[in-house]
Amino acid sequence: MRSISILGATGSIGASTLDLLRRDKGKWRVVALTANGKATELAALAIEFDAEIAVVADEARLPELREALAGSSVEAAAGSQALCEAASRGADITVAGIVGCAGLAPTMAAIRKGGAVALANKEALVSAGDILLAEVERYGATLLPTDSEHNAIFQCLQGNNIADVNWITLTASGGPFRDWTMEQLRAATPQQALKHPNWSMGAKITVDSATMMNKGLEFIEAHHLFPVGLDRLRIVVHPQSVIHSMVEYRDGSTLAQLGPSDMRVPIASCLAWPERMNTACKPLDLPAIGQLTFFAPDEERFPATRLAREAVQAGGAAPAVLNAANEVAVEAFLAGQIAFTDISAKVDRMLSRAIPSAPATLDEVLAVDAETRALTRKMLEHA
Ligand code: NAD
Ligand code: MG
Repeated sequence: MRSISILGATGSIGASTLDLLRRDKGKWRVVALTANGKATELAALAIEFDAEIAVVADEARLPELREALAGSSVEAAAGSQALCEAASRGADITVAGIVGCAGLAPTMAAIRKGGAVALANKEALVSAGDILLAEVERYGATLLPTDSEHNAIFQCLQGNNIADVNWITLTASGGPFRDWTMEQLRAATPQQALKHPNWSMGAKITVDSATMMNKGLEFIEAHHLFPVGLDRLRIVVHPQSVIHSMVEYRDGSTLAQLGPSDMRVPIASCLAWPERMNTACKPLDLPAIGQLTFFAPDEERFPATRLAREAVQAGGAAPAVLNAANEVAVEAFLAGQIAFTDISAKVDRMLSRAIPSAPATLDEVLAVDAETRALTRKMLEHA
């Protein structure tokens, strides 16, 4: 039996992970399951999987969680401290599936226990890349990239030497607005942005896919996970999302990982790593797909990848500022407060201000994150 904790168990990554566990329950001992506010839903999962502890980040939901867990043996807790404590109970593998920088501290707590961490929470790596990786090294943790592109690259690098890499190519679907004009983009609604052509995911990453900020964040994520240098990382738009990413070696060989647009595939690859496990995913039907197409990204209409590249080139606190400003701008767009094209425009404005000095600790990253959120909100109020 292997032990597992899932941070963000009620989300899309959480649901895909639990779906895989459900098929082979006898193999897994569930330590902690966490959520933000969906206490009743979390309690039901904790009971179903016989978890040790269930934690909601929102303390106001603790009575609801307690009530829903009454009569079971599952412990209940709430608050950000409790989230970190649950993550530091340790497990053979922790799935980091919280969305946003809110996942950083609990993910770090899991890393400090030295187990395997399946990292879906890209914002944690964007905001605190160097610090997070130093802790992985220090505590002997194993970081397993779960984001589909990074999982693809990770698989394509197995058995090879990273010094032999010419190019790492991240593929991007281009999102629902790939063919839209600037004028159409200005009028895009949250409802339209939330309709991703290929993937079913949480709201924040779905909007990030529509602006291409998701690929910008993934560019920074790849830079930290696969140290080939920024000038060897590139992005290609591939609307079918069949090739999840590619690695080209210096002899001219390109290795690619293909699969259905189903996060259970990369999650399964992390859960079973370095072995393989069965999934119930539909096999890839290439004749039915017919064609794979590729385009260069258009940074005029979708400036987010340029902003991310500039932020990671600037280094220091810039990626944390980019991420925090984007999180606030996406929330404002979803709340109907700003236009779709304002998301990247607001991030751009926050990056053109004086950037705080490079954070050296987790607390300093969290301070940059909090400060940038406050400033971005203020800027939105006065817009
Ligand atoms: P989601 O919105 O569906 O789920 C997020 C989870 O985090 C939920 O369990 C929620 O309760 C929890 N959460 C939200 N805010 C929180 C807070 N402040 N404190 C504690 N917990 C909080 O999101 P998702 O689509 O599952 O994405 C999760 C992460 O995985 C993101 O970083 C995303 O970029 C990454 N990712 C997701 C997919 C996907 O297919 N969904 C693919 C690649 C990467
Ligand atoms: Mg991805």
